Amino acid sequence: MVSWLLAVALSAATANPWASQQFPAPGHPDAIGTYTAGCLQGAVPLPETGTGYQLLRPSHRRFYGHPVLIAYLQQLARRSHTVGLPDLLIGDLAMPKGGPFTSGHKSHQSGLDADVWFRFAPSVLSRAQREAATPLDLVDGQRNRVNRQFSPQHLRLLQLAAEDARVERIFVNPAIKLAACQALQGKPHGWLAKLRPWFGHSAHMHVRLRCPAGNDCQPQAPVPAGDGCGEELLSWFEPPKPASGTATVKAPSPQPAQCRALLTP
Ligand SMILES: [Zn+2]
Repeated sequence: MVSWLLAVALSAATANPWASQQFPAPGHPDAIGTYTAGCLQGAVPLPETGTGYQLLRPSHRRFYGHPVLIAYLQQLARRSHTVGLPDLLIGDLAMPKGGPFTSGHKSHQSGLDADVWFRFAPSVLSRAQREAATPLDLVDGQRNRVNRQFSPQHLRLLQLAAEDARVERIFVNPAIKLAACQALQGKPHGWLAKLRPWFGHSAHMHVRLRCPAGNDCQPQAPVPAGDGCGEELLSWFEPPKPASGTATVKAPSPQPAQCRALLTP
């Protein structure tokens, strides 16, 4: 039994060496490559709890990030706390050296992506509760609109998250973007441009930071001009493109050669 488990663990490690990395790569912080084909040098861990937030699934060890991401999340949590929101629940960041997860999403590779859940923590959760927490879905998939769980607190969180200059874009379900557009009609809403409609993302927002200056990461194309509440958003609600379907899977692009060096001890 033990040898069988060992064999399974070994084959998983061979298949994806990034998932078995226990420690960050030493050196100055450097986000390398792209969000979907990259790695991370000089990562730091997000502490399991802090003012205004609690970390989910600590046993998954996906709580490493570029120091810019860690600082951003801690400041977002402090700001949320200051305006009276309950604690944020923080999901996946990156693994110690970044790289592709064995399961789940394909980005989060360069230490600049983080998932923040739409479920808030009304009280201090135990470690076991943080391991077992269940997501709060804000979208009614039948109607393709937000459900009654969507609240002004979520709108406030989205705004606080997006207004930060370090943020490049935030992925949310199209129904959530639509709800934000409708709620803010007639009010200043420059930050809405950064909310990008995407498949899924109905129970968490995916925050993506800009490539920090001097790092070896490749920036993405900037978000389109305007608040993104017009035709592009509405196209998500037209048949046959389902807002809650799955994205087309493209062949993975190779990681930069620099990443290989991080794996050699
Ligand atoms: Zn994500």
